[in-house]
Amino acid sequence: MFLFIHLQKGGWRSSKLAMMQPQPFNIKPVNLHTTLTKKVPSLSINQNLERLSNACGVTGRESQVRDLMVELLKPYADEIQIDKLENVIAIKKGKPKKPKIMLAAHMDEIGLMVKTITKEGFLQFSKMGGIDDRILPAQKVTVYTAKNTYPGIIGSKPPHIQKEEERKKIISFDELFIDVGAANREDAQSMGVAVGDSVSFDTTYQTLGEDAALGKAFDNRAGCVTMIEAMRLMEKTECTVFAVGTVQEEVGLRGAATAAFGVDPDLAIVLDVTIAGDVPGVREFDTTVKMGKGPALTISDSGLITHPKILRWFIDTAQQQKIPYQIESGLLGSTDAARISITRQGIPSGTISIPTRYIHSPCGMLNLKDIENAAKLTAAAIKTATKHF
Ligand SMILES: [Zn+2]
Repeated sequence: MFLFIHLQKGGWRSSKLAMMQPQPFNIKPVNLHTTLTKKVPSLSINQNLERLSNACGVTGRESQVRDLMVELLKPYADEIQIDKLENVIAIKKGKPKKPKIMLAAHMDEIGLMVKTITKEGFLQFSKMGGIDDRILPAQKVTVYTAKNTYPGIIGSKPPHIQKEEERKKIISFDELFIDVGAANREDAQSMGVAVGDSVSFDTTYQTLGEDAALGKAFDNRAGCVTMIEAMRLMEKTECTVFAVGTVQEEVGLRGAATAAFGVDPDLAIVLDVTIAGDVPGVREFDTTVKMGKGPALTISDSGLITHPKILRWFIDTAQQQKIPYQIESGLLGSTDAARISITRQGIPSGTISIPTRYIHSPCGMLNLKDIENAAKLTAAAIKTATKHF
């Protein structure tokens, strides 16, 4: 999910829509009679999410994730392409003259990039994607150099020697630094650390209880896993499907722009995460989406008003297949769908999202059943696409 950090809270908001109870759009439903028989083993969802979450793909340096995506999509694709910006495009061929459908899940994650190495050997950094400065101090991180990886910690001036006013202030990221234990600049350079190196949060994937998982980069490895599962489930389709792992979403939906232009689809489904509002302090006005209650369908966000036919298609499919779903609207953020929908002459696009707690932080939490249901919904929607478009 892309965070519109330049927009003030309370700025753009669709207040009327946000206050609506979760209700489908008032559009005439279409009767569909299709079934999906194959069951999703949540084991593969869990395993794929573990591998993808633990891999590093900070925006602009997605190669580790890209290689994994190629490996995991290969069994379900007739052809795999990697475009010039390094978006992965897995193609499942359908019949001629049927709609071309683009699935998109961004592969990049928020993180940091080494900006300066101080003469004392500390790494100053820039932020890649929307990161709240308040969550940075004392975080364990991993620095990815050309040849090695190093553990590090984000340091700041100790509170013991801060003045009272300083302790009340949020420490800006440009006052923080990464300590990799280097003695000085030369030492850091001899370790191979260089300006431009990616830095990811050091969080290892874990499962909790029956269906929950926590880990880093669920934004958007959860969408990547959903896309892989959907490709596995859909088997033969009438429509040609392009499952695209996009790059550089977190800095402005960039990979999606070139991929959508290249693929030139008739429709697009974006698979991403969304905010789960089921934690203390979140008002019903802000979001009613909850973890474990099914994938979320977006009516509108900061960059997209979902095409009504797309929303109808998703809701009819979910109801026919008895797949739980939630409706959300008016979020201050957006997804690749915002960019894809305004590519070329316009591409009707919608978003199927995994409700996730603590996104854009070092550790998120989600329910694996939501991924399973999002994949089922995506695969079933593709099977019924020709009845709607
Ligand atoms: Zn995001």
